[in-house]
Amino acid sequence: MRILVVEDDINLNRQLADALKEAGYVVDQAFDGEEGHYLGETEPYDAVILDIGLPLIDGITVVEKWRAEGKGMPVLMLTARDRWSDKVAGIDAGADDYVAKPFHVEEVLARVRALIRRAAGHSSSELTCGPVRLDTKASKATVDGTPLKLTSHEFRLLSYLMHHMGEVVSRTELVEHMYDQDFDRDSNTIEVFVGRLRKKLGVDLIETVRGLGYRMQAPSEAG
Ligand code: CA
Repeated sequence: MRILVVEDDINLNRQLADALKEAGYVVDQAFDGEEGHYLGETEPYDAVILDIGLPLIDGITVVEKWRAEGKGMPVLMLTARDRWSDKVAGIDAGADDYVAKPFHVEEVLARVRALIRRAAGHSSSELTCGPVRLDTKASKATVDGTPLKLTSHEFRLLSYLMHHMGEVVSRTELVEHMYDQDFDRDSNTIEVFVGRLRKKLGVDLIETVRGLGYRMQAPSEAG
């Protein structure tokens, strides 16, 4: 899962990015509205954290532009405390949720998790695929109740596949959602990670769809 943080307060931006990385996300950072808008327009994000008061282009205009361009990723706005008009304007412009400053990072993380879940059509914070359970809150996975020891890449891969259960996910899509923009991306490594993940899961839940990518689903749901 890949997140974009657009916040001009350098310390706050770093604080959010660190907490998100700690929780297993890949994070891109932008420090003004122009850069933020460009990244959101050109890169696929699973969620965006967007400050309203930004240099060059304000957050409300940024989200408005994205929606006009057909970009539908979940957007969490950061608003100034007690500026109810900002919250209304943000939601009207196309934001999905907001958090008022000052906030606890845990609240931002919880809202981001919920936005990603809902965007993928899941209402519970725990995703299940056969014997595999993914706890999006604790960033942990188990098979038949036994905790899985996963590297951050393996966890991101599993998390993405489980959020998109039953769908065919291409290698390119996986690369785009598992690495940040500065990473030297190579879609061949995805195959290696899928191989390792299959081995660790020990159950055959990730199907290779020739020429298209991968699909994860529980055996009973396989048609
Ligand atoms: Ca600001």
